[in-house]
Amino acid sequence: MKVGILGGGQLALMMVDSFIDKNVEFIVLDPSDKPPASKRVKCIKAKYDDKEYLDFLAKECDVVTIDFENVPSSSLNYLEMQTKVYPNSKSVEICQDRLKEKNLFRECGVPVTDFYEINDINDLKNAVSEITNKSILKSRFMGYDGKNQVHLNDKKIEEAFTLCGSKDLILEKKVDFITELSLIGARTLDGDTVYYPLVENNHNNGILDYSIAPYENEELQKKAEEYHRVLCDKMNYVGILVIEFFLINNQELIANEMAPRVHNSGHWTIEGANISQFEAHIRCIINEQISDIEMNKYSGMVNIISKMPKDRAECLSDISGFHDYGKLERENRKLGHITLIDTNKNNLLKKIENIKKII
Ligand code: AMP
Repeated sequence: MKVGILGGGQLALMMVDSFIDKNVEFIVLDPSDKPPASKRVKCIKAKYDDKEYLDFLAKECDVVTIDFENVPSSSLNYLEMQTKVYPNSKSVEICQDRLKEKNLFRECGVPVTDFYEINDINDLKNAVSEITNKSILKSRFMGYDGKNQVHLNDKKIEEAFTLCGSKDLILEKKVDFITELSLIGARTLDGDTVYYPLVENNHNNGILDYSIAPYENEELQKKAEEYHRVLCDKMNYVGILVIEFFLINNQELIANEMAPRVHNSGHWTIEGANISQFEAHIRCIINEQISDIEMNKYSGMVNIISKMPKDRAECLSDISGFHDYGKLERENRKLGHITLIDTNKNNLLKKIENIKKII
C-alpha cells in the first residue's frame, strides 16, 4: 500500500511515524527544501500544481492525502481523476474558504456567529453598522493561526480593510466565549466515525499555546459529535475532520472553523490515546477499521513556538513526549510540542505551568 501526502510538514512527519513499522509506504510532495517529513521519507520537491509530479503521485499511490489544507483544491481534483483522494477536493475547497465553511455550518444547523461577506469598503461599512458588538475582519483564504485577521475595535475601518488585503473578506461578530474546544473525529470509508473526547484549547495571539484533554461534558460531547456527523455526511468526508468551537453559556457550541486534516489540538493522542489521530487518519484512508478510542488519563500538549528550549534536559523530567519537528527557529513558528500526562487534572495543570516556564 502506497500513500501520497501533499505537504511535508510536521503533520506529514507524524502520519509517517504512526505507520513506520507497518506495511505502508509514503511518498511526500512539498515545494520546500528539507521539510520535516524528509527526516523519515524521501520528499519530492515540487509545486503543488506541478502536473508532472501529480501524475507521478497518482500513478504510484493507492491513495493521496494532505498535511496542509491550502494545497490548491484544483490539484486534488486533478488527482481525483486518477486515484483516490481523501479528504475529497470539494471538502478541502470548502474548508479553505471561511465564507463557504460558515455557509455550510448554517446549512447543516451548526451554530455560527453572525457574519457578513465583504467585497468592498461599502460592504464593510454597512456590516459594521449592523454588528453592534465588537467584530473581527478576516481574509476568507489562507487564514490560520490568527493570520490575515484584524480586530476592528483596534483599527479604523479603512485601515483594517487594507490590512486584510481589501478583497475576499468576511466580517465576524466577536464571540464572548468561556473557552475554546475542538472535536476530532475519524470517519472511515464506510461512514463509521470514531471520536476523540473534546479538547480544551488555549491560544496566545491567535496561535494554539496548549491543549488539555478530555474536556469532560457528556452533553457537549454528544452535541459536537452530532454536528461532526452532519457535516461529514454532507461532504462525504473520509479521514480526520476537526471542528473548532467557542463555548458560550457553558452549554452552547459556536463553530469557528474546520480543519480537513489532523490537527494541532490532537497531538496529545500520540502518547495519550490507544490510537493517535495520525494513525486513525491513515487507517481511514487505506480502509482499515479503527477500534474505539481509549484514554484513561488527562493529557496535555504544549506547543514550542518561535524558539526551541536552550536546555532540553531540563524539559525531560515529568513529560511523556518531546517532539522536535527539526524546523529553523522563526517568530511565531511551531517548532515542536511536548506531551504531559497525569491521572489527576490539577497535577497536569501544574506540570503544564512548569513546562511553560522552561520553554
Ligand atoms: P482562527 O484563525 O479563526 O482560528 O482564529 C484564531 C483565534 O482568534 C481563535 O482561536 C480565537 O481565539 C480568536 N477568534 C477568531 N474568531 C473569533 C470570533 N469570531 N470571536 C472571538 N474570538 C475569535
